[in-house]
Amino acid sequence: MVLPTLGVGAIAIATAAVATSPSADLPVGPDRVSVAASEVSRGGERPVLAAPAATAQQAAGALWVADTSDIRSDAAPDAVVLGQAESGTQVLVTGVVEGDWTQVLYNDVPRWVATSTLTAEEPLGTAPCSHGSGVEKGLQPDTIKVYRAVCAKFPEITTYGGRAARSNSSGHPTGRALDIMNSDKARGDAIAQFAIDNHEKLGVTQVIWRQRIWEPGSGWRGMESRGSATANHMDHVHVTTSGDAATG
Ligand SMILES: [Zn+2]
Repeated sequence: MVLPTLGVGAIAIATAAVATSPSADLPVGPDRVSVAASEVSRGGERPVLAAPAATAQQAAGALWVADTSDIRSDAAPDAVVLGQAESGTQVLVTGVVEGDWTQVLYNDVPRWVATSTLTAEEPLGTAPCSHGSGVEKGLQPDTIKVYRAVCAKFPEITTYGGRAARSNSSGHPTGRALDIMNSDKARGDAIAQFAIDNHEKLGVTQVIWRQRIWEPGSGWRGMESRGSATANHMDHVHVTTSGDAATG
């Protein structure tokens, strides 16, 4: 061996040789062995520390999961299933597509999900609302879609009004209207905008919020005072639907 011309790495190798070869006669004392072992240990941690940075560079964007699907080890239908991509959540994608499969990052490691289950657009929630399905009684299909989509998007809203004996023009008696109870302005603005953004998919024909009325084609307009805060829609967003015209 030509030890004098080598650096610390060579000493680490040399100490390993000491451990496995008692008969070796090398100029390395106990202190040197300790330092070398520490060097080896730190070196062993480096790949672990470097991994997150390496995978972060691999994420090219994110896609929504439209349908709950399997996360597989390889781009093949018979590859090992490692987990599930839940409907309504987002997955990080690497930008790599292979056949019918899209590469995603799962626990920071590249894995595969069927491309047909992913979408660039946030999907509307269609599952029964976790706050109960009682409000759906007597509602038209479009109104049920609005209820479920709003419920999924705004789970903090817990009180809704559906079919009710009120002014017929409101849509409530015929199951074409939903009241989303909320007094917070910012949240109500977001709910109203959500209904507006998805009006075709949900069959929405009118939104009322804070004494204003929105309709497709004409946008927002002011509404005369109807008296109370509730009548002026300060404490709820009212959505009217066609009944059964949703495209989504
Ligand atoms: Zn209403």
